[in-house]
Amino acid sequence: MNDLPPHRLVILDLDGTCRRCTVDGQPCPNDVGEQELIPEAVDQIAALLQAGYKIGFATNQAGPAYGFSTRHRVWGAIEEFKVMLALALRKRDIKWFEGVITVMVSWDKAGYMRKPQPGMLEVLMTQYGFEPEDALMIGDSLKADRGAAFNAGCDFLLAEDWHSGDYRMIQEPPELTR
Ligand SMILES: [Mg+2]
Repeated sequence: MNDLPPHRLVILDLDGTCRRCTVDGQPCPNDVGEQELIPEAVDQIAALLQAGYKIGFATNQAGPAYGFSTRHRVWGAIEEFKVMLALALRKRDIKWFEGVITVMVSWDKAGYMRKPQPGMLEVLMTQYGFEPEDALMIGDSLKADRGAAFNAGCDFLLAEDWHSGDYRMIQEPPELTR
């Protein structure tokens, strides 16, 4: 089913939501050549872009801070993801640059810019002129992604529901004040 939500901006987590690591035992890509797109995510991104939504990405990448990789290599993997997704969308005659606005990356082990803190979402919304009620955060982590959504005042949807096109499970932030 594809009953699209009333939001104008969809903020997507990367790992476990839009891409998978192809290295056994490794939770996320640390370098180029270590990832694949999640096909269901490509389908849903295509549907959102065709319907005129704006899409931003917000990803925690503390691997370099823990010594697992370098920012240079992890950023290379993110650029590779962007190209893989853009090519997958182009096969469907969808232009990535007409709907995807940015990829926000937190390199920190903690703090305002790391999910579940709201920094990346707030910066993204502020820079591109969206209010929290305009935005839907989608991710596979209840702690990081749902936490960031709620801390930013945004609605939240779990990645597995999104992958099946089921938007009925959208959760509103607690203590709603709007
Ligand atoms: Mg994730």
